[in-house]
Amino acid sequence: MIIIMKNTATKEHVDELSQWLARFNVQANPIFGKDTIVVGLVGDTGAVDRDALLRDPQVDNVIKVQEPFKLANRKFHPDNTIVRIGKNVEIGGSGVVVMAGPCSVEGHDQIIDVARHVKEQGATVLRGGAWKPRSSPYSFQGLKAEGLDLLHEASLDTGLPVVTEITNPAHIELFMDKCDCFQVGARNMQNFELLKELGQTDKPILLKRGFANTIEEFLMSAEYIMAGGNPNVILCERGIRTYETYTRNTLDISAVPALKRLSHLPVVVDPSHAAGIYWMVEPLAMSAIAAGADGLIIEVHNDPAHALSDGAQSLTYQSFEETMGKLRAVAAAVGKTI
Ligand code: PEP
Ligand code: MN
Repeated sequence: MIIIMKNTATKEHVDELSQWLARFNVQANPIFGKDTIVVGLVGDTGAVDRDALLRDPQVDNVIKVQEPFKLANRKFHPDNTIVRIGKNVEIGGSGVVVMAGPCSVEGHDQIIDVARHVKEQGATVLRGGAWKPRSSPYSFQGLKAEGLDLLHEASLDTGLPVVTEITNPAHIELFMDKCDCFQVGARNMQNFELLKELGQTDKPILLKRGFANTIEEFLMSAEYIMAGGNPNVILCERGIRTYETYTRNTLDISAVPALKRLSHLPVVVDPSHAAGIYWMVEPLAMSAIAAGADGLIIEVHNDPAHALSDGAQSLTYQSFEETMGKLRAVAAAVGKTI
């Protein structure tokens, strides 16, 4: 962090400021120029509040020179982190992991059937929502505990590990034996109490980017989980809200190389929630692999036209099969496998 003082600042004030900063174990090194005084801070400035410094009437500007995320930062962990989901799936290496399944678990036969089909086409993780955070309280809210049991059954039937969304820290116990990876949805990316509790577990967390959050905020949420002691975080770009209304969200494809550069954590793309339209899922998924994503999470439904949630963006079995073929070709072109 660098503090630029106003040209009216006095040496006495800079000394006072330096003493105050020493309380945070930060050493202040002032440079007195002809017109300006610049103060370079050395040490961990994580606890120093930039806004509080800006409130100082003799401070002109405060520039951060380091990212505030440490555990998620590639600078301190140059190698890619590989996260294990269930017994056999590894994400973050040279394989592209495809997670697929319905938006919501709707019943026994439905989830078993979808699980078998996506497995047959090469998906290695089953997705499905049991608790559904819907925009309207009148929309289908998920089968809740029953949905979780059905997901577990589908997992036993197919051998696929399960990722499912958790919305409430009080549910962690219940989820522990029934899923292999917690999903934190876009709407909960900054539910810090939930993140802190999940940080106390050792299960992988698929952390979705909030639709109005910056990349830095996204990585700070990962940091919350990691600071609690859980290093198994998978980042998921799922589209952000822009002025464009043609698509449900705008897939921020640039987030993929940005996250891979800033962080060592695996990056997954959700083309389904980004597009909101089934026919756009395939090109977005292809572009995600080309951009360096470690995985995809794709909604697939046995009967999209009658789905209880997100039918418009769900792939049929047949379109998922075709899409998987294209994804394998793109993966091979960038030296990866599916
Ligand atoms: C979902 O995965 O079904 C979902 C609700 O996603 P998001 O949190 O990204 O909207
Ligand atoms: Mn959905």
